[in-house]
Amino acid sequence: MRETAPFKCDYCLERKGQTNHWWMRDVLAGTARVFRLIQWDDELADKRVTADGLPTTDPDGRYVFEHICSESCASKALSKHMAKVSQPAKGLRAEPFERVETPGGPALVT
Ligand SMILES: [Zn+2]
Repeated sequence: MRETAPFKCDYCLERKGQTNHWWMRDVLAGTARVFRLIQWDDELADKRVTADGLPTTDPDGRYVFEHICSESCASKALSKHMAKVSQPAKGLRAEPFERVETPGGPALVT
């Protein structure tokens, strides 16, 4: 496994240790109406995309997954997501679900 800088929780900024059992939220699915939390995976945790959503290894790229340290921070992530999808906003229209392939299995997004 390659060396990477330690990850930080996106909600409380705690640094991830080797043995912590962290979680990750699928940010791309999060732009739709789906809240998706998956178990930590070192490889996926480091995945990034460009502003156009294309995969990149550029350290300036946006992470595909939020890094979440605990149940408490996962609750914050869920609250943020619920507040976001409750408000009518661009890109959150009620449309039929579309099946997309995402790491860790299929997810439903709009
Ligand atoms: Zn945290």
